[in-house]
Amino acid sequence: MKKIIERKIFYQCSVCKTKYANKKEALKCELRTLEKKVFEIGNYVKNIEPRFCQMRQKYYFFSGKITKITDPELPDVEYETRWLMNKKERLNAHVFLYQVKFRCPHCKKTREERYYAPELQFNEKSQR
Ligand SMILES: [Zn+2]
Ligand SMILES: [Zn+2]
Repeated sequence: MKKIIERKIFYQCSVCKTKYANKKEALKCELRTLEKKVFEIGNYVKNIEPRFCQMRQKYYFFSGKITKITDPELPDVEYETRWLMNKKERLNAHVFLYQVKFRCPHCKKTREERYYAPELQFNEKSQR
């Protein structure tokens, strides 16, 4: 048996770090616009679509805080068109994922989950 090591060249988008085998594709990716940050770390937010608590089998809205914002990524086009009914401009852009820390009001468990900006809104009552 012969061991073969193949070298492959990839082109990486400098914005989202996605690797492409094709230079043109990588260039096209770099030309995508970057979503303007909607939230900042420390902002208080709530979810628009209710979450489901597996423990208590109940839906809920949380009041949470942004703890982290990811580096720019490519949007999950299928998810965004199905659930967020997004505008085309956003689907062709690099977007951020906002990590939110919140407590489930049913089971009282603290969670940290990642959301796209259109899934969240400011929680005015908690803003200081
Ligand atoms: Zn990119
Ligand atoms: Zn829960």
